[in-house]
This record gives sequence, C-alpha cells and structure tokens, in this order.
Amino acid sequence: MAAENDETEKAIETLRRWIAEAPQGGVVFFGGAGVSTESGIPDFRSPSGLFAQKYPYPAEVMISRSFFDEHPSEFFDFYCDRMVFADAKPNQAHRKLADLERKGIVRAVITQNIDGLHQAAGSKTVYELHGSVLRNFCMRCGDPYSAEQVLALHGEANDGIPRCGKCGGIVKPDVVLYEEALDSSILQASVEAIAKADVLVIAGTSLAVYPAASLIDYFAGSRLAIINRTPTPRDRHADLCIAANVGTVFDF
Ligand code: ZN
Repeated sequence: MAAENDETEKAIETLRRWIAEAPQGGVVFFGGAGVSTESGIPDFRSPSGLFAQKYPYPAEVMISRSFFDEHPSEFFDFYCDRMVFADAKPNQAHRKLADLERKGIVRAVITQNIDGLHQAAGSKTVYELHGSVLRNFCMRCGDPYSAEQVLALHGEANDGIPRCGKCGGIVKPDVVLYEEALDSSILQASVEAIAKADVLVIAGTSLAVYPAASLIDYFAGSRLAIINRTPTPRDRHADLCIAANVGTVFDF
C-alpha cells in the first residue's frame, strides 16, 4: 500500500504501535460513515451524497420520525433506495477490528453505522448507537423481519410500504430516526467502554452528529487518535490525527 505522504505514513505507524502496546481490552473504536464507504455504502450526509440528485428533501428530513409517520411511502422509497445495502461486505477495517477483539485488544466497537458490517466481520461487542437495518419489527404485533424481507415487501406493495404478513401493520426498521431518542442502555455501555479505554480511535466521522462529540468527553485514557479524511472540530484535542482511509490504516 503506497503511503499518502510521509507524515500520514508516520502517523499510521504510531497508531499501530499504540495498538500493539495497549493493555488487554485497552482499545475502543468509535466509527462513523467513513468506516463503511469502503464497503460501497455512501455517506448520505455528505454533500456529494446521491440523495441530493433525486429527493426533494434533505436526508435529515426524510429519515425523521415525523416524516416516517406522515409520509411513510416516501420514507420507504428513500430508505430502501439509499440506506439498505443488503449485498455490502465487511472491508479491511471491519476485519482487522474483529481480529483485534479476538486477540483481546479491542474492548468494544461503537458505531454510528446501521449496516451490521462489524458483526458480519466477526466483532462481538458492538454498540450500534443508531440501530440496524438488519432488524425490523411490525409496529402492531412485533413480528421480526429481515432487511431482505423489507426490501421485498417494499417492492411488492403498491404504495411501497412494507406491511406485516400476519397483521398488516407497518414494518419499521430498528433504526434511530431523527427526533427519536437513542437507546439509553447502548449509550451507557458506550460511555463505560470509552471511560475504560487507554486508546480511543475515532474514525470516519466528522464528529458533528450527536452524541459523538459528547461521548468523547468520557475518555480518560492517554492516547486519542482521529482518523478522518477531513479535519474535525475535535482534532485539537487529539494526540494523533490521520488524514487517510480507515481501511488503509487498519491494513496491517
Ligand atoms: Zn404484525
């Protein structure tokens, strides 16, 4: 893998050394959309995001709870088209993190992503702050549905709304929409993991979205690294900033 430049290459080597030197369970990874872009999942928040070309509302509106309640048909058009990637596969970063967890080095992965790729790569302790497209439940009877089933029901329905085969209720993804609260037990587990970490790696997130920035305040360890292609508001608090793809950094 060619170095992007000497400074970046040096920073990557430093982080790999930190990971090697970390005590058992000493590393916690906090990831955002940039972790999954190398698996072909676009960041719907990015200015070049595809949604802007086709949809009349900003993504933040289309995946809000009030939009889901008032315009379920449009919600599922956007959701199934832009947020569910049933064929996506884990990339190098997902695989390496799972490997580091098996070796007892990584304590937990905290993710803003909803694609389930960390678990697909083999990670066990994964805190999904924003839920998962892989879990879906009938709002009326609670029956579970897979992502594939939701996509199929969406395609079959005249109005595009996936409905429960048993009771006709709307099948809602277990994804935290805007205006909805995060799961407090997941939030608490994330806080505890971060508080126990010696090395905290934040990757592929601009740290602009709640609660990313506030979670970092619980870090009391010695080494904070931020991996992001563009600068973040927290760079000045970091001990190491790496402007590279996450997969490149974890290719070791
Ligand atoms: Zn039902």
